[in-house]
Amino acid sequence: MAEMAIFIDVYKCTACRACQVACKNWNQLKADKTESRGSHENPTDLSANTWNRIRFREVLMPDGKIDWSFFSDRCRHCDPAPCMEASKIPEAIVKHETGAVLFGEKTKELYFQDIRDACPFDIPRMDEKSKKIVKCTLCIDRVTNGLKPSCVTACSTSALLYGPKAEMLSLAKKRVKELGGNACLYPGEEFNTIWALPDTPKHYGIAEAPKIHNYMFAGSKLFSPLGKASLAVGLIGYMRTRTERNQ
Ligand code: SF4
Ligand code: SF4
Ligand code: SF4
Repeated sequence: MAEMAIFIDVYKCTACRACQVACKNWNQLKADKTESRGSHENPTDLSANTWNRIRFREVLMPDGKIDWSFFSDRCRHCDPAPCMEASKIPEAIVKHETGAVLFGEKTKELYFQDIRDACPFDIPRMDEKSKKIVKCTLCIDRVTNGLKPSCVTACSTSALLYGPKAEMLSLAKKRVKELGGNACLYPGEEFNTIWALPDTPKHYGIAEAPKIHNYMFAGSKLFSPLGKASLAVGLIGYMRTRTERNQ
């Protein structure tokens, strides 16, 4: 099967949350207990039962108007995937040929916090009952049977599309060009979930992507001597913390 991707055209998202519900429905995920917080955003966070969540954000614009922004938060299906690199058990987290990063049964044998800490987007969650680490699967069970991801089929505005990665990337880039201004491709090209953001990641209150690639490609020539030195200090600190944690 070819490498595939989900493309999210944020401009077209009306925050109806049909994708949130469709994800729960297909994956048989229970509802999280919610409460009114003066916002339509619910639940408050991703969880073992919520793998896709629409973030709502109000931003005061320079013209004094409020921009009400929506962002479908979910696994970015990174390539390479920092969560996979952090896994001590090779078969626990794998990259499927479709581009999906998959968490398997053996994730229950991993140290959850290591995997969560490794993800620059704070996506992995632990199922307290099974002890497995879980997140969006890019609907691997559907797409390998000729179906589109459940969230994509539920989206009535076509803000969610699924198809060959090259095609999705090309659509995303075209959209960014059309939107102009601060519009950008997010998180970047090395992911199998791709967003066309009408504004900067900061505007949406989400993590920028480069951090993961800076971290992963530490030894590459892309790094300046200063960058390498900072990274070495960071890694020593990281190893110390790990050693202390394991004692
Ligand atoms: S179903 Fe589509 S329009 Fe509705 S919240 Fe999800 S991405 Fe947005
Ligand atoms: S977003 Fe996080 S959980 Fe998903 S593949 Fe990337 S590192 Fe792993
Ligand atoms: S691709 Fe599937 S698992 Fe991922 S958010 Fe959409 S419905 Fe949920």
